[in-house]
Amino acid sequence: MDFALSQDHNVLRDTVRDFVQKEVKPLAISIDQEHKIPDELIAKMSEMGLLGCFLPEEYGGAGLDILSYVLVVEEVSKACASSGVLISAHSSLGCAPIYQFGTEEQKKKYLPDMATGRKIGCILLTEPDVGSDVAGMTTMYRREGDEFVITGGKTFITNGACLGTGVVFATHDKSLKHKGISVFIIDLESPGVTVLKNEDKLGIRGSYTTAFALDDVRVPVANRVGEEGKGWTYGKYLLEFERGSGIASAKLREALKTVSDLAESEATGRAIDDPDVTLRMSEIEVDIDTLEMTELRVLSALQTGQNPGAVSSLLKLRVSEIRQAVTRLGVEVIGNDGLYVEPMRPFYRLNEAPGIPEAMLPVVPEYLNGRAYTIFGGSSEIQRDIVAKMVLGL
Ligand SMILES: Cc1cc2nc3c(=O)[nH]c(=O)nc-3n(C[C@H](O)[C@H](O)[C@H](O)COP(=O)(O)OP(=O)(O)OC[C@H]3O[C@@H](n4cnc5c(N)ncnc54)[C@H](O)[C@@H]3O)c2cc1C
Repeated sequence: MDFALSQDHNVLRDTVRDFVQKEVKPLAISIDQEHKIPDELIAKMSEMGLLGCFLPEEYGGAGLDILSYVLVVEEVSKACASSGVLISAHSSLGCAPIYQFGTEEQKKKYLPDMATGRKIGCILLTEPDVGSDVAGMTTMYRREGDEFVITGGKTFITNGACLGTGVVFATHDKSLKHKGISVFIIDLESPGVTVLKNEDKLGIRGSYTTAFALDDVRVPVANRVGEEGKGWTYGKYLLEFERGSGIASAKLREALKTVSDLAESEATGRAIDDPDVTLRMSEIEVDIDTLEMTELRVLSALQTGQNPGAVSSLLKLRVSEIRQAVTRLGVEVIGNDGLYVEPMRPFYRLNEAPGIPEAMLPVVPEYLNGRAYTIFGGSSEIQRDIVAKMVLGL
C-alpha cells in the first residue's frame, strides 16, 4: 500500500520500519524456532506504542488513525509474521470490541493495560466443534445475582497463552442461535479458566494458539460488552475489521521482489531464464495491482469510520490466494532446498547451507505462514460465501 500517504504517515512508517529492522527482524528466525515472542520484544513494541495504535491517549493509546495502525501491522508482518499476528489479534480482536462497544467504565478499566502491553488481548470465539457456523455455539452463560457464569471450551485462540484480557462469546440459549450470543470480558487468569494446550502449528509458529476449558468462570455483570443477544452483530463487525486491516499489497509486493531476486540468483541456477517463472511473476504482479483497488476501498471505509462489509472478505480472500501463489513460486524457484521438510523446518537447513542468499531464508516459512491465513478470521470458503451473498444482494 503506497497511495496518498500523508507526511505524518510516511514518518510513522519509516520510524516503525527502522525499529522493526533493528528489533524484530533479527529475532524472526528464533521466534519461529522457539514458538515464542520474547517478553522483552513485546515490551519494546509496547514502548513504541505499537500495541495501542488506534486507542485514544486518554486510554493509554497512541491516538493514531486506522491507516497508521495498518501501516504498523504491515511493517511488523514483513519482518516477522508471528509478531504481526500478535499485534493485529490483540488490537483488532482484543482491544477493538471494548473500545467500540464497551462502556466508559470498561474502557477505563481494561484499555490502559492493553494499550501498554501489560495485558495482551484476544478473542475467544471458536470451539472444538464450532468454527464457521457460529450459530451452533455451545459455550453457555447464565446469570447468578450480580455475576455471569460461563462454562464451555474455546480453541485456536491467538495470544491465548499470554493469559491477558479475553473477549469471550457465549450463548444463554442454543435454540436462539445467533440471537442468543453475548460477549464478556474475562481475565484469563481467573479461577475456572484452564489452558488445555498450545498448538504446534504449520506456519506462524511463534504466535500462540491456545485451547481453553472454561469451567464456571464468574464475571461481574458489568463485564458484558454491549447489549445482551447482540454478540454476533459485534463479532461480524470485528471480523470485518480484522480482515480489512491485516496484511495486504505491500507485503505481497515485497515477497514478489524476494522471489524475483532469488530467480535471478546463481544459487537458484537462474530460474529467471525459465519462461514459466517470468509468466507467473507477471500474473502475480497483475493480481497485486488489482488488489490495491480493493485495499483502497476497504481502507477508505475504515479510515472514515464506516464498516467495510463484504468487501473486506473479498480483500482477505484475494490476499490469501496471492500470498500462496507468490510463496509457492518462491519455494519452487529455490528448488530442492525449498522442499526440505525435516522436521518441518526447511529454513534451518537453508540457514546452515553456505552460499545461500539471505533473501532465501524467509521464503519457506512464509509459504507455511500463508496457509494459516486462509483459515483464521474465517476460511476462504466462508469468504467466498460472503462475497457470493454480496453479489446476490442477500
Ligand atoms: C492460526 C489460527 C489462529 C486462529 N485464531 C483464532 C482466534 O484468535 N480466536 C478464535 O476464536 N478463533 C481463531 N481461529 C479459529 C478460526 O477462526 C477457525 O479455524 C475458522 O473459523 C474455521 O473454523 P473450523 O476450523 O472449526 O472449521 P469448520 O467450520 O469446521 O470448517 C471446516 C472446513 O469446512 C469448510 N466449510 C465450513 N462451512 C462451510 C460452508 N458453509 N460452505 C463451504 N465450506 C464450508 C471450511 O472452509 C473448512 O475448510 C484461528 C485459527 C487458526 C488456524
